[in-house]
Amino acid sequence: MEGVAWFTHKYIMHGFLWYLHSDHHIKGKKRKLMERNDIFGLFFAGISAGLIVHGAEGLKPTFFLGLGVAGYGLAYFLFHDIFVHRRAPILKKSRLPYLNMLRRAHHFHHEVETRQGAQAFGFFYVSPQLRKKFWKSD
Ligand SMILES: [Zn+2]
Ligand SMILES: [Zn+2]
Repeated sequence: MEGVAWFTHKYIMHGFLWYLHSDHHIKGKKRKLMERNDIFGLFFAGISAGLIVHGAEGLKPTFFLGLGVAGYGLAYFLFHDIFVHRRAPILKKSRLPYLNMLRRAHHFHHEVETRQGAQAFGFFYVSPQLRKKFWKSD
C-alpha cells in the first residue's frame, strides 16, 4: 500500500488531479474541517469497503486485501492527518526517531506549494538520502 500511496501521490495527486490535492499544499491556510484533498482518503475507504464486502462471504482474498487497505488508511490518517498536520489535539509528540523523521520529511514535501518540484512523496518510507537529512536522535 505504501507503494500505491507513493505512486498516487506523485503521479496522480501531483498530476492530473492536482486540483484536488492543491488545497493541502497551501501554507498558512486557515484549516477547515474538510479539504478537497480528503476525497483521496474517502476514495480509498470506498475501495477498502468494497473489497471487504465482496470478500466477506467465504472469506475470499479480497476480504483480507480490503482489511489491508483499511489498516493502511488508518495508519495514514493517524500519521498524516493527526500527527503531522495536527487535525486533532492528540498524538502531538513522539519519542520515536522514526516517526519524527517521517514528520520532518513530510513537512519537507510541503515546502513546495506547486504541483511541480516537490520531493518525498512517501508517507512511511523515506529515501536513504532524505533519511540521513531528517534523522535526528531527539
Ligand atoms: Zn503533495
Ligand atoms: Zn500533508
